[in-house]
Amino acid sequence: MENVELAYGEVPACRDVSFEVAEGEIVALIGANGAGKSTTLRGVAGAMLPRKGRIIFDGAEVTQMPAHRRALAGIALVPEGRRVFAALTVRENLEMGGFKFRRDRPRLRAQMERMLEMFPRLRERTDQRAGTLSGGEQQMLALGRALMSEPRLLCMDEPSLGLAPLVVQDIFKSIRAANQAGTSVLLVEQNARYALETASRGYVLQTGSIIAAGPCAVLKQDERVKEAYLGRR
Ligand code: ATP
Repeated sequence: MENVELAYGEVPACRDVSFEVAEGEIVALIGANGAGKSTTLRGVAGAMLPRKGRIIFDGAEVTQMPAHRRALAGIALVPEGRRVFAALTVRENLEMGGFKFRRDRPRLRAQMERMLEMFPRLRERTDQRAGTLSGGEQQMLALGRALMSEPRLLCMDEPSLGLAPLVVQDIFKSIRAANQAGTSVLLVEQNARYALETASRGYVLQTGSIIAAGPCAVLKQDERVKEAYLGRR
């Protein structure tokens, strides 16, 4: 993103936001409630189009490209609150994620098998309706659904939200596994500790602007970050 402005109606929620995710990286975007993290992710995924600035993906400008085309180009979004299809089964949710392989059944089956291997809890529940899964299982399903399309870039919005610490550890392990398998990750988290431990670099958003950036090891020592997001020890 280069100097991007995103607005709801006339009110800008992000101003002059610039950042990058290199191939193979996990990058964290941290910040308080309402800082503009979800808005920025929507901008990356194309759910909101910028008023100013440019968005480049894989060497091509995608600034005005709609969300469905960005999905086909390799950008997958796991939205805040998971948003699985509650009335559909686990298997059907995963199939929806693999929509771009719908005419290639063997490929779709192979992808499904990969996801069920990655998330054994989902394998036990393939015919269960997604709405009846626990919060942690729904987060796994939302992640699995996004990974079904073999995205180049995975955008995760607050994966830890409302989940018990042990479940969060599992989710972050899966994010790292997806990254090791070749997917770059843009990770939005209010829980800065989790985010900075998982990513290699990070950006801090405050009231719609980036106020700090750097390797996570450096950000963890930044006084503003410690004060606002990590809590002093
Ligand atoms: P949180 O961690 O609480 O989700 P966030 O950093 O993701 O916060 P955003 O959801 O991006 O923040 O919100 C940034 C600003 O945009 C806030 O002031 C918010 O009130 C506003 N905003 C978000 N969504 C909308 C919307 N649909 N319509 C109008 N304003 C919105």
